[in-house]
Amino acid sequence: MRVLSRSGRVVTWSPSVTLVPTRQCFNACSYCSFRVPLGADAWLGDRQAEAQLQARPGALEVLLLSGEVAPAAANRRDWFERLRALSRLALARGRLPHTNAGPLQRAEMAALARLNPSMGLMLEGLGPAYGRDHRHAPSKALLARLEQLEQAGRLGIPFTTGLLLQRGETLAQRREALELLALLQRQWGHIQEVILQPWQPGPGALQHRRAPAQGGLQDLLETIAEARAILPPEVHLQLPPNLVPLEHLGEALEAGIDDLGGIDVHDVINPTWPQPTPAALAARLQQQGWLLQPRLCVHEGWIAGLPAALRARVARLQQALAAAWDRPDQRSLEAC
Ligand code: SF4
Repeated sequence: MRVLSRSGRVVTWSPSVTLVPTRQCFNACSYCSFRVPLGADAWLGDRQAEAQLQARPGALEVLLLSGEVAPAAANRRDWFERLRALSRLALARGRLPHTNAGPLQRAEMAALARLNPSMGLMLEGLGPAYGRDHRHAPSKALLARLEQLEQAGRLGIPFTTGLLLQRGETLAQRREALELLALLQRQWGHIQEVILQPWQPGPGALQHRRAPAQGGLQDLLETIAEARAILPPEVHLQLPPNLVPLEHLGEALEAGIDDLGGIDVHDVINPTWPQPTPAALAARLQQQGWLLQPRLCVHEGWIAGLPAALRARVARLQQALAAAWDRPDQRSLEAC
C-alpha cells in the first residue's frame, strides 16, 4: 500500500537510539557478531543509559536490543527488571521504548507491553540453512518463535518481525515464512512491519562497505516483491538502508519497501555498515519522487489500539516529531 502526499510517495523512518541492556547471550547463532559469552558483560546501568539518551535528544524511539538470558537462568529476573527499568527511563525522558530481547514469558511480555508501544522479535526464517545457523541457539526453534508472535497477537501488541535473508535459504522457504506471517496477521492483526534484512558480514569479516553482487540485489528485489504480494497491505515492509547501496534504494522502494526502520548514528548489529544520514536519504529519495517522513516506533495504524496512557504519550510525541521535521534546521540535528 502506497501512501501519497502532495510531494509524492512516502517512505518512513524512525529517529532512534539503541540501548543494549547486555550483549551476553545464551544462544550462539553462527553469524552473530553481537553476542559475548555468558558472564562477559554487565547489565546496562541507568547512568550509562541516561548519557546515551542525552547524546541523542531527537531520537524518540529507544530500541532496547538485548542478548538473551535463558528462561530458567538464575539472573533472568534481574535481566528482566533491567528491561523494565530501561523502558521506564525512556518514558521518563519523553521517549518511547521498543524492546527486542528474544522470547518472553506471557507475564513478562504483558508487563513490558504496558511500557512499550511496540515490541519486536525476528522470525528470521525456516529450513535447513536456518537450522544450521541455529544449532546452538535453543530459543530460535521455529515453533518457539511462532508461539511468541502468536502470544504478542493475543496480547494485542503492535509487533515488528522479519526475515534474515541470504543465509542459504531458498525463495520457496522465504515464501513459506512470509505465508506464516500473513496467517498470523490475518488472525491477530498486530504485525505492523516486516523487516527484510539481507545478511551482511560483521566486524572482522569486512572493514569496508562494498556493493552486493548483482545476484544478491536481484534476489533481494524479488523477495521484496514476493513479500508485498503475500503480506496483507497494512503490513509495512522495512529495509535497513545501510545494508544496501544507496544507489539501489529506489529500486527496493519500487519493489515494495515503504519503511527504513529505526535509524541511529551507528548500527549496533552491523557496525561496519555505516548509516546514511536522514538528510542524505531524504535528498536522494526526493530526486526519485519519494518523500521521507519520520514516524514513531509504533506505526499510525496501530496507535488507536494502545492502552490509554501510552496512546496519550504517543499522540503528544507525534505532534512534536512532525513539528521538528518540518523545520529545515532540525533535519540534520540527529545526524540521525
Ligand atoms: S540470539 Fe541474537 S544476540 Fe544471541 S547469538 Fe543469536 S543473533 Fe546473537
